[in-house]
Amino acid sequence: MKIGFWCGAVILPLLLGATSAQAQSRLEIANQSHICSFAPDDVLEGEIYSFSSSQQARDMVADIMSTVGLVPRFTIFAANVPNAAAVIDGEERLIVYSEDWIQNTIPNNRWAAVALLGHEIAHHLNGHTLEAGGSRPPTELEADRFAGFAVGKLGGSLEDAQWLFRQLPEAGSDTHPGRKARLEAVAVGWREATGGRVGTPPPSDTPQVRAEPQDAPAAGDWLVIAGSVPHGAPDQASARMQELRALGLPVRVINTDDFDNLKDGLYSIVVATSSRDDAFRALEAVRRHVPDAYVKKGN
Ligand SMILES: [Zn+2]
Repeated sequence: MKIGFWCGAVILPLLLGATSAQAQSRLEIANQSHICSFAPDDVLEGEIYSFSSSQQARDMVADIMSTVGLVPRFTIFAANVPNAAAVIDGEERLIVYSEDWIQNTIPNNRWAAVALLGHEIAHHLNGHTLEAGGSRPPTELEADRFAGFAVGKLGGSLEDAQWLFRQLPEAGSDTHPGRKARLEAVAVGWREATGGRVGTPPPSDTPQVRAEPQDAPAAGDWLVIAGSVPHGAPDQASARMQELRALGLPVRVINTDDFDNLKDGLYSIVVATSSRDDAFRALEAVRRHVPDAYVKKGN
């Protein structure tokens, strides 16, 4: 299997008649020397077209960003690139990925996709996409380390984090480190995230509890509020609750009508506690995934 990760500094999307993210666009690669991959024979050929990304890919980017407490500021879309790329368009940060490659190469391997997107996101977070010159071994290793970190934070094992990298060729090049160095970088990142735990089941294995926002009972006096949606969107509240539970947060959905101090008409995703101190302790954990979470007295 041929795998290359790309980080391009100058890819300019040429929008064809629309500015919506749903629109299909043609990408013009202005300067090939700013494109980097780690398989030396990977080159971008022909015209590159972008398509709207899947919700799954957008969610994955949000999950990865949550591991560092940041909200995604990227636009992500599918494109006919080898696998994925981090690119800058003016001041906009873009992540492009190949839906075809993901569906055909790693269809049931969520962790491989997290590692791939994590690697590309790291190129943005570390400012690599602002530098000219394309791939260099040190920047590739920085990106690999973050890929391992993201998989570890989201509950994957070291094996999960390294799987994608084991598919790479053993030898490196002027621009790309060899496989062994990359596996090492991933392992270091994974250990930073996990403290080196062994055999801990991923949080996503926690029992799936179906949210019934309409019937959710009033809970403790103090609430850590991790988000709210109007009563018209109970499914959104359930989905958000499931996402946060998968990250290990003991959230539930409440109806704000049941709480004297909350604005009516909302379903809120909360951690309910019985004391103010407990609430602020819980807030620290929640803010790692939801930076704008806050504490409120419910009743
Ligand atoms: Zn890279």
